[in-house]
Amino acid sequence: MPMRMDELFETLRKYQKLLSDRVELEKQLEAMPKTIEIQNQMLSREKKSFVDVKEQFTTTETNLKQLRQALAEAEMRRENAERQMDGIQTQREYDAVNKEIREASEKEQDLRHRIQEEERRFAEIDDKLHRIEISVSALESEIEQKRTEIEQNSKQIIDQIEKLRTEENSLTQELEDDLKFKFERIIRSKSGMGIVPIHGVVCTGCHMILPANFVNEVRQADKIVFCPYCSRILYYEETEIEGSIEEILTGSLVDLGEEDSEETEETESEDESEDISNSSKKGSSRKRKNQSEPLIDNDFLIDNMEE
Ligand SMILES: [Zn+2]
Repeated sequence: MPMRMDELFETLRKYQKLLSDRVELEKQLEAMPKTIEIQNQMLSREKKSFVDVKEQFTTTETNLKQLRQALAEAEMRRENAERQMDGIQTQREYDAVNKEIREASEKEQDLRHRIQEEERRFAEIDDKLHRIEISVSALESEIEQKRTEIEQNSKQIIDQIEKLRTEENSLTQELEDDLKFKFERIIRSKSGMGIVPIHGVVCTGCHMILPANFVNEVRQADKIVFCPYCSRILYYEETEIEGSIEEILTGSLVDLGEEDSEETEETESEDESEDISNSSKKGSSRKRKNQSEPLIDNDFLIDNMEE
């Protein structure tokens, strides 16, 4: 390997920082248009209700016109009858004209009443239309302003992302593309943590107890090893509880082959589980030290990683 492992781990830790920053920015960028979603929904509701109210406005306007027309006709009818009063000769004629005047007057009154009601309704509708217009134009300008903000912020974020990519590229020149690809996927699915230390026999990423021979493999630091449970890249870090670790490593270990794991359960073959528990039971934790095959098919693990 062209790079020393401690250098590689250091590079990965720096890469992790850049990647998680970039992932965070990408999320922000994606979420931005959603900030005006509510305003857009409100706007389309207001526009729809404007159409409805406008229709009521037109109907009421037509009604009013018809009522006023009817009122004018009733007034004319009454006035005509009143004029006829002067030339009246008989009681019968008088009764007929009088009836005509009374009916026309009643009609007039009724129409005036209805016109008043319709005018009140018309004023309300007009008021409503006006309010909707104000609300629509306020929403439109708010959306426009936010859209401009989003554009400016997006531009800044895109610039930052580009800067990070440039940094990433120069940092990872010596890393293999395959490793970079896997590492980015881990960072994305494991909330920014792609390389974690083993403390004792525990992965600090997922807190699972790891098989002793596996821990030794990580301690050897001669290749990249992924956690069989959470798929993160592991490195060994000395801790104060070191003394007891040797006991754990050489003592009787729990049957780790049976350990439940959402990610490895189905990927481990029977043989491998058997192998892990056998070597653990025997305490021959260093048996695998020169083995080049990883315990678990990491490619498979990463390809099947939960999102
Ligand atoms: Zn883990």
